[in-house]
Amino acid sequence: MRPRLFYCDHYPIPLPEGHRFPAAKYRLLRETLAGDGVFELAQAEFARADVIELAHDSGYVAGFLSGALDPAIMRRIGFPWSPELTRRTLASLGGTLAASEDALRTGFGGNLAGGTHHAFRSEGAGFCVFNDIAVAILAMRRAHGVRRAAVVDLDVHQGDGTAAIFREDPDVLTLSIHGRNNFPFRKQRSRIDIDLPDGAGDAEYLVALESVLPRVFEFAPEIVLYQAGVDGLAGDRLGRLALSADGLEQRDQMVLRMCRSRGVPVVITLGGGYAEPIERTVEAHANTFRAAAKILLSREYSAQTATEAIE
Ligand SMILES: [Zn+2]
Repeated sequence: MRPRLFYCDHYPIPLPEGHRFPAAKYRLLRETLAGDGVFELAQAEFARADVIELAHDSGYVAGFLSGALDPAIMRRIGFPWSPELTRRTLASLGGTLAASEDALRTGFGGNLAGGTHHAFRSEGAGFCVFNDIAVAILAMRRAHGVRRAAVVDLDVHQGDGTAAIFREDPDVLTLSIHGRNNFPFRKQRSRIDIDLPDGAGDAEYLVALESVLPRVFEFAPEIVLYQAGVDGLAGDRLGRLALSADGLEQRDQMVLRMCRSRGVPVVITLGGGYAEPIERTVEAHANTFRAAAKILLSREYSAQTATEAIE
């Protein structure tokens, strides 16, 4: 059976003209990966409110679902409320939940949405309504007794919501590598934060990642949630770093090889990506999942790493 990726781009949301959310990338990414023929593309069930409430305040959940949230909170989220937005939000969250089930079973799960790391317990921000990564970790804890989890957040923006939700939780390690001068301008404290200056390129980025990854695995996580945003790409409209497409590929490989060699299952969520033309962003996202297929799922690779281990 082919590995699965979940998608939710069949729930378009009504946005005002000129809105910065790159709605088209989700469909283009699904079509690109479908064209590869490596993955099965699947729809997940909507996330249920009682599961969302594992990470979010019940008043916030009910307020959003019924369209009764304070307009100031909706403004910070950055989308006008609509019934379509609730469906898309629940489908995106459902994708990360389904991907984590896949990861626990097979070692890998992927969602072509999600990575909504700016959502806090009782409010959202920056295109993020609910925090799919936090919900998935707490759902796995409840349903499967998964205790220790690590979040590797390599989106160019700090994973502030995730950091805040797990600040008091000793069993969740949060790592965020992000641009110092980027949104969110008031940073939270992750377990490990690396903030990079404007214009940081491949070499600086990869050295930072390589130096910090061993600490993530020393924590002995039972699962890794990888927020694989590609908005660190040079020229991204909302990023300030200068990674090349090749640098991003090396980044993905570094994370995924380490998961593979330590035998830790990994869930990949999409995260941000706002480079133009949009095909650059789509290609960078697609490469993350291609790297996962190559590193996590191919027999040749496992034979090769086994040989390397013996040597
Ligand atoms: Zn981002």
